[in-house]
Amino acid sequence: MKNPVEVWYLYHSGFAAKINNKLLIFDYYSNRPANDGPSLYNGIFNPGDFKDHDVFVFVSHRHRDHYNPVIFRWMNENPNISLIISSDVKGYKSHPNIYKTEPDNKYEIRDIYAETFASTDEGIAFLVKAEETVLFHAGDLHWWHWDGEPDSFNRQMEIQYKAQVEKLKKHHIDIAFLVADPRQENFSLLGLDWFAREVSCTHIFPMHFSNDYSIMNNIKKYMESNSIPAEIHLITKRGQRFCIGN
Ligand SMILES: [Zn+2]
Repeated sequence: MKNPVEVWYLYHSGFAAKINNKLLIFDYYSNRPANDGPSLYNGIFNPGDFKDHDVFVFVSHRHRDHYNPVIFRWMNENPNISLIISSDVKGYKSHPNIYKTEPDNKYEIRDIYAETFASTDEGIAFLVKAEETVLFHAGDLHWWHWDGEPDSFNRQMEIQYKAQVEKLKKHHIDIAFLVADPRQENFSLLGLDWFAREVSCTHIFPMHFSNDYSIMNNIKKYMESNSIPAEIHLITKRGQRFCIGN
């Protein structure tokens, strides 16, 4: 990572990352502002405010909590917006600035690089290299271990998740956005923990917790009792901004 990165937590799995004049947006979902603050600080993106930026919008899959069709309207307001969309999202007209993506592929999009991984749920996860910074957004790729599921399901999840993490090991990741879902109770940090131990990574942001910030207490306790090399950033509200690397 050569350049400082600003990261905004938008909502749930939605994040924005600004590096120089590039703005990357992942899994944008809630388009209701959280406060009266300016764009991003209010948890939403206003395309008119970023006309001097190259904007890259990533959609990991079609689930309602990861995707909002408002992104197609943004392109009318700002010609510098590119959409990088998992192929399970349907029902839009093709456009030169829309890139349809499949798992296990590599893409050059304008002057950024993206690599895709299969999800353990639907769609894909993205590894993105922009301005010498490597970011990873997991989408719904996760070790979805549930108390009520049969052992065979949980075991299958483990195998699939670990197989994707294995592929990530050849990269150094500066910033990773990883599932930490409080609904999994005692198993909510299983995936994050495995990733943090196996992958060379500097910064981790938890995601997929909607309004349940109680997961941050669990993460705090986890950090106190486990020595892991990455820094995990605790999130307290929508629109929160983190400055990394300066
Ligand atoms: Zn999800």
